[in-house]
Amino acid sequence: MMFTCDRCGCCCRNLDKSELYKELDRGDGTCKYLHGNLCSIYNERPLLCRVDECYESYFKGIIEREVYEKLNMEECKRIKKMEE
Ligand code: SF4
Ligand code: SF4
Repeated sequence: MMFTCDRCGCCCRNLDKSELYKELDRGDGTCKYLHGNLCSIYNERPLLCRVDECYESYFKGIIEREVYEKLNMEECKRIKKMEE
């Protein structure tokens, strides 16, 4: 199973839900680099915004890849629901 993103931008508008993204928050929970629904620094975005690289750097050897992807997908769905 691959993690799929439909580029809704929802996660980038809810950074205030985690202390980890504090530096990117423009003050209202939205990332200062979000333009429309897209990341304006996509190719240079921080490691914390990179699902695959984050796994390699932080979670490999701690949890299985499939579990990690499932958790990401669940969080993606949960955060989308908050904007409904
Ligand atoms: S909330 Fe999910 S689908 Fe929307 S941009 Fe974030 S990861 Fe992608
Ligand atoms: S840097 Fe880009 S991917 Fe990361 S939270 Fe901001 S807009 Fe989203």
